[in-house]
Amino acid sequence: MSKHDAKSHARRIHREAILIDGHNDHIMLKCEQGKPIDLMKVNRKYHSDAPRLLKGGMTASLFMVDGHDLARSMMIVERALREIARHPKHLMQVTRTADIRRAKRTGRLGIMLTWESGMALCNNIDILRLAYRLGIRSITLTHFEGGCQFALQGTPSYFGYCTPEDRASFRRTMKGLTSFGRQVVKEMNRLGMLVDLAHINDAAFYDVIEITEKPAVSTHGGVFACAPHARCLTDDQIRAIARTDGLLGIAFYHKFISRKRATVDKIVDQMAYVADLVGIKHVGIGSDFDGLGEGVWPVIRTADRLPTLTEAMVRRGFSDAEIKKVLGGNFLRVLKATIG
Ligand SMILES: [Zn+2]
Repeated sequence: MSKHDAKSHARRIHREAILIDGHNDHIMLKCEQGKPIDLMKVNRKYHSDAPRLLKGGMTASLFMVDGHDLARSMMIVERALREIARHPKHLMQVTRTADIRRAKRTGRLGIMLTWESGMALCNNIDILRLAYRLGIRSITLTHFEGGCQFALQGTPSYFGYCTPEDRASFRRTMKGLTSFGRQVVKEMNRLGMLVDLAHINDAAFYDVIEITEKPAVSTHGGVFACAPHARCLTDDQIRAIARTDGLLGIAFYHKFISRKRATVDKIVDQMAYVADLVGIKHVGIGSDFDGLGEGVWPVIRTADRLPTLTEAMVRRGFSDAEIKKVLGGNFLRVLKATIG
């Protein structure tokens, strides 16, 4: 296939596919900056906004709307819902997979609200049930915190590069889920919420794997064998997630992709690595757009450049069906099994 043919082939697959992104921080970032959410406004200082996500082929993104502090979370959920209601032609809230299919059919951006941290639950299972009623469909059980009031794990998560030996010790030395954390996982299973293992410490990771009766995911992370960062999953963790029929969303953050020069091809390397280890059905994407901190740009710099990922997968020799699975088909399967 010539370079030009590969490009037009990729464009067709990309257009047909349902794209689901496991993690986007845009709404949270704007709220933290004290700015209106203004999702429809293109602003090139950010990695994403609704017009560029739609241009990049995105069907639905999991948008983080806090989860650390209850009052602030309520405020941001309200603002996000109001913003969605303001643009019914371009945006829609997603609470079930049927909504994602509808977003695809109608050319709108699906917005699934998520919390990143369970601190806002304040050790009260009824708050979780209320969050579900508000449309929160996934919770990343911790952002990093542990051992403090309302944290769902007993020890904070380590963030940074580490040796395989350090990594092996984490599981033994760290404290896993609190008893409330265990209750949260069970209730999320029952309610129909996606349990997200991104950021969790290694002891709590395996606690969740043991407890959950539904697929577990790490929405935005990487492969430890490719980039030895504590936020990336070891082979054993990837196998554990696969056993739940879950997936790993590969993030576009350079530190999770490679210790040297991170490129789009190296993102595809990680996808191929997971596919070889446990099968292509356990790979997804989790961009972390607008969640990398001031002045840090993702490997795929902006949401409108998402087709370059599909081109790279075509060049690598992934089949059309495999590419569609990675872009969103796998997430759709996992969401069907969790949120319905
Ligand atoms: Zn995160």
